[in-house]
Amino acid sequence: MPLPARLVVVSGPSGVGKGTLVSKVIAAHPEVVHSVSCTTRAPRAGETDGVDYHFVDDETFRGLVSSGSMLEWARVHGACYGTPEKQVDDALAEGHPIILEIDVQGGIAVREKRPDALLVFIEPPSMAELERRLKGRGTETLEQIERRLAAAKGELEMAPLYDVRIVNDDADGAADELARCMARS
Ligand code: 5GP
Repeated sequence: MPLPARLVVVSGPSGVGKGTLVSKVIAAHPEVVHSVSCTTRAPRAGETDGVDYHFVDDETFRGLVSSGSMLEWARVHGACYGTPEKQVDDALAEGHPIILEIDVQGGIAVREKRPDALLVFIEPPSMAELERRLKGRGTETLEQIERRLAAAKGELEMAPLYDVRIVNDDADGAADELARCMARS
């Protein structure tokens, strides 16, 4: 059974494994669209423009915000990130569920604009495990890791505002749980 057309927000601290869970859901349910955000941060090794993000400069980003093209946007870890509204509307109009992998400020902003959105918060089994995962992926400097761990504490405090909380201790089980939540209307 294809998953219903619905706007789904997935948030959680950096390193918690949101990307892995979303990829697993899409592998099992190819009708699901993954929203591609715009960001002013530099691409990491292995990231592709237009696939992982639309990488834009500050001026372009400001233009997108002032023209009203963003469903939401936020400054996260020193860079700007935002969701183009058109891709969300296009996916839903075509009958596809769409997942926005965005931070908690963005999640709360989406809830205000789209009260029917499903907000899912992914939690780490523990802070120690989150630190281990962030260090293990090797994509950030130690300073960036410290910044993301400090931010994680604030983000975890926002979890009660979400509709559903999933602890990512086992990626396959957590991805199944995410898909089950998306199947409920
Ligand atoms: P990263 O730089 O690790 O890819 O992402 C950093 C944070 O920005 C993550 O928490 C990610 O979910 C969030 N993020 C990515 N795209 C968006 C977006 O379009 N809007 C908001 N508000 N946050 C985003």
